Amino acid sequence: MSNLTFGIIKPDAVKNGHTGKIIDRILADGFEIRAMKLIHQTKKQAEGFYAVHSERPFFGELTEFMSSAPCVVLCLEKENAVPEWRNLMGATNPAEADEGTLRKEFATSLGENAVHGSDSDDNAAIEIAYFFSKLELV
Ligand code: ADP
Ligand code: MG
Repeated sequence: MSNLTFGIIKPDAVKNGHTGKIIDRILADGFEIRAMKLIHQTKKQAEGFYAVHSERPFFGELTEFMSSAPCVVLCLEKENAVPEWRNLMGATNPAEADEGTLRKEFATSLGENAVHGSDSDDNAAIEIAYFFSKLELV
C-alpha cells in the first residue's frame, strides 16, 4: 500500500462553493496535502486523464463536465491513502453514498459527483504525475 493518492475537487463542487469545506474534511480525516492547485482543464487534458473510460457511453459527458470550469487537483498523503480517500469520498453514485461521505454531502448527480479519487496505487502514481511535477510535491 502506498501512502499517496490523487484527488480532484470537481467543477460542480468548486462552482457550488464547497472547496473550503472539502479541504477541511480532508485535513480532519488525517490526510496531509502534498500538492494542490486550481486549474481549468482543456477538453484534451480531461480526455487524456479519463482515457480508461474512452469506450464508456458517458465519456463525452464526463470530459465536457471536467473541462467546463475550474477544479482543484490534489496530492494527498496518509497511510493506505488510496482506500482511505475512497472511503471519505463515498460511492460513485451519491444516491448510494454512505452518510458522512463527501459525495453524500456535496455531490449533485452520478456524473457531477464532487470529487475524484485514484482506484489503485499504480493509477495514483500515474494521475499524480499527470498534473504535478516532482518539484511540486511538498
Ligand atoms: P469513480 O469516480 O468513483 O472512480 P468511475 O471511475 O467508475 O467512478 O467513473 C468515473 C467518473 O465518471 C465518475 O466519478 C462520474 O463522474 C462519471 N460516471 C461514472 N458512471 C457514470 C454514468 N453511468 N453516467 C454518467 N457519468 C458517470
Ligand atoms: Mg474511477
